[in-house]
Amino acid sequence: MEKNMQMNDFENMIDIESKILSTSRDPHQYNGEVFENESIVASTQHQKRFYLESYGCQMNFADSEVVASILQAQGYGATKEPAEADLILLNTCSIREKAELTVRKRLTEFKKIKKNNPGLLIGMLGCMAERLKTKLLEEEKLVDLVVGPDAYRTLPDLISEAEDGQKAVNVFLSRDETYADIAPVRLNSNGITAFVSIMRGCNNMCSFCVVPFTRGRERSRDADSIIAECQELYDTGYKEVTLLGQNVDSYYWNNPETGHNITFAQLLERVALISPVLRIRFSTSHPKDITDDVLHIMAKYENICKYIHLPLQSGSTRVLQLMNRTYTREWYLAKVKRIKEIMPDCSISADIITGFCTETEEDHQDTMDIMWQCRYDYSYMFMYSERPGTLAAKRFTDDIPHDVKRRRLQEIVAIQNKLSFENYSQDIGKTYKVLIEGNSKRSAADWMGRNSQNKVVVFPKGDFSYTSGDYVMVLVHECTQGTLLGTIMN
Ligand code: SAM
Ligand code: SF4
Repeated sequence: MEKNMQMNDFENMIDIESKILSTSRDPHQYNGEVFENESIVASTQHQKRFYLESYGCQMNFADSEVVASILQAQGYGATKEPAEADLILLNTCSIREKAELTVRKRLTEFKKIKKNNPGLLIGMLGCMAERLKTKLLEEEKLVDLVVGPDAYRTLPDLISEAEDGQKAVNVFLSRDETYADIAPVRLNSNGITAFVSIMRGCNNMCSFCVVPFTRGRERSRDADSIIAECQELYDTGYKEVTLLGQNVDSYYWNNPETGHNITFAQLLERVALISPVLRIRFSTSHPKDITDDVLHIMAKYENICKYIHLPLQSGSTRVLQLMNRTYTREWYLAKVKRIKEIMPDCSISADIITGFCTETEEDHQDTMDIMWQCRYDYSYMFMYSERPGTLAAKRFTDDIPHDVKRRRLQEIVAIQNKLSFENYSQDIGKTYKVLIEGNSKRSAADWMGRNSQNKVVVFPKGDFSYTSGDYVMVLVHECTQGTLLGTIMN
């Protein structure tokens, strides 16, 4: 999923609050991704068809893969056309107000389709389910079923209830559901890279964040089932797995049979040992939890990618305290220094919020200053969006005017653009091992892949007979602020 957003899309970038640069399977950026998978595309053998759109983070997308698996077992086939569907599902995100507004607009559009097809069922899945169930199901009657992130196993029963004209709702948040035994159907897959969910929920109470309320308590998935899923992916030709959780470094699983405990560092090592040609990435690391053990395991195995997404949120200790992030500016800087000591070639990216409650110009300066010090390769930057029910909504006033939030966002985006271009320019003349993911978006004559540092690399196919999933050495000779351009060295 090569995204390509350039500087001249600046206004648009701010509007979508705000992903910079062109690169990756972005942790925040599914915006109506439609289900696609050849193996269960609807055909005459399927009794019914479903249409599924995903919003929000990679974890939501991974959940959609679990939902597709559950529906497949019920005889459903997939369609990319909402008008052909018997069941339309939106897997929703609540992280910022904008995400919720987009989903609402979409639901209104689907309601129009229902007018011509009264048998059609429309369902809302995921993070918006708990908060908006009554409003969307009973008051506005935009949906027929509402299913929270821990209730997907009950989807078949809920569909039956909705077919009988009942209001079908399950937003129960579990303490132990991890869907460990459900083999996800890979959606929109390039057959090379896949997400593997290793934990659910979050116990951190960052004051701005709605996730602990929408996705419940943190729980880690059975390590053996994670290894089995990664092994299966490798056996079927995948070359890269991204281990997913809101806070992967607090992964901790106790094997009930042996009493043996497994930490994230140990899990990483077990996945790394599946094969030296299976690459491993992970997201997201909380700065307070990433340990030297994890860093040393990353350094020890070439196939664990040298890239850490380390959300900052703010460069001001005062604001970090209000955000309940539990680290200071100095702690964060020391963590970045430690990463670079152990892995000098490790790339770091961040999440940053502008205009959090009470943020002064001085706090904002602290954020800009720390960006220069950390020299992120890229960042995901957002204006603060107050979310109902969060600690910040209860305790503080959302007192920074929108135009100030926006101006500060523009300033940090401008810094990040400079940093990215400078960092990428320093790669010119270097040779990287690149995993080919597919054709470049712009030309079928070029390959697109990534280096260990998660930077997108584009290069001509030339006369070589490489294919997707191959590793290839590429010499970088040019760059944009989000892409390295090179030529094959072999
Ligand atoms: N668990 C990850 C962590 O702690 O870094 C982050 C998960 S959250 C889905 C992704 C990002 O969304 C956060 O790092 C934060 O920058 C941003 N975010 C969360 N709540 C927000 C809010 N209320 N307003 C603006 N941005 C927000
Ligand atoms: Fe939200 Fe903080 Fe948990 Fe991340 S660590 S999901 S920002 S509460």
